[in-house]
Amino acid sequence: MSRYWSSLVAKLDPYVPGEQPRVQNLIKLNTNEHPYGPSPKVIEAIARANGEDLRLYPDPTSLALSQTIAKYFGLGVDHVFVGNGSDEVLAHVFNALLKHDAPVLFPDISYSFYPVYCGLYQIEYRAVPLDQNFRIVLNDYLPSAGAKAGGIIFPNPNAPTGICHDLDAIEQVVKANPDIVVVIDEAYIDFGGVSAASLIAKYPNLLVVHTLSKSRSLAGLRVGFALGHPDLIQGLDRVKNSFNSYPLDRLAQAGAIAAFEDDAHFEKTRQAVIHTRESMTQGLRKLGFEVLPSKANFIFARAPGVAGEVFAAELRARNILVRHFKKERIYDFMRISVGTDEQTETLLQACQEILAQ
Ligand SMILES: *Cc1c(COP(=O)(O)O)cnc(C)c1O
Repeated sequence: MSRYWSSLVAKLDPYVPGEQPRVQNLIKLNTNEHPYGPSPKVIEAIARANGEDLRLYPDPTSLALSQTIAKYFGLGVDHVFVGNGSDEVLAHVFNALLKHDAPVLFPDISYSFYPVYCGLYQIEYRAVPLDQNFRIVLNDYLPSAGAKAGGIIFPNPNAPTGICHDLDAIEQVVKANPDIVVVIDEAYIDFGGVSAASLIAKYPNLLVVHTLSKSRSLAGLRVGFALGHPDLIQGLDRVKNSFNSYPLDRLAQAGAIAAFEDDAHFEKTRQAVIHTRESMTQGLRKLGFEVLPSKANFIFARAPGVAGEVFAAELRARNILVRHFKKERIYDFMRISVGTDEQTETLLQACQEILAQ
């Protein structure tokens, strides 16, 4: 606290990301990074950059990247907005599209950046409880459910639960709320869900947000994007150009384009993660864990008879890092990212040891 701070800064409750340890030889399963790394084409594209590329400002519109993304999703380039990771895209989304008189709705157990942005931009929100199986109750987001909403946002699959809704269910929410923007945060959609991007032509109130951090293994490059009706994209552009009109540096633009040009690598590595997720789920269930059904690159699991915080500390003592949230309802759970098969084997052995002691 300092008397030099604005009253807003004093009131903020900032997001706390998962630990990025400096220690070697840790099995790092705490921030949902992809275990296999990006396409070698990404590294080649970045390595091709020369002094001229860094002397000059980047293209403020990221046109070549936006065109690549538009083509990939079968949309016009005016349907694409790119930013420095989807966290930045989401910041602009809250400011440009979700700040209205009525509160924005999102699940009580969800991505913890949403309430942080509401604090920063002074947006009222209502946290809608998940049901007892930790599922989003989509009916609670229909206007018929009661109170007026200024906007809706939730991840699909949800984080940190990993539970995914099918496209029909998502469409019902979008369709029932034509007067407000419905944002589907699809950070994990490539690990087994069906993207709502196909509905964009039909619904001018739908915005779909993606990131290259998870399924394309580029968390360090910071690239995310939103897809939606050109009116929504223009709103985002207006906010971006009032904040930082050069969103992506030249290396990020070049690397991200290359990532979309290597489908084979993308397919192979995401299928490997899906495969390991299933064996990890079975392995943990065999040890007596409760594991929620996940369509993401992490699982949300509860150890039998050991508190989540205690179990996570035991894993940490064995050089395995997982995420624990000090939050009511999910206190007993751990979020464990899907690593390689070898890391999963080590994890399962450690879990067995901890349960046996
Ligand atoms: C990881 C994540 C993001 C942010 O990803 P970036 O690295 O900022 O692109 C957004 N939403 C959810 C739900 C996430 O888990």
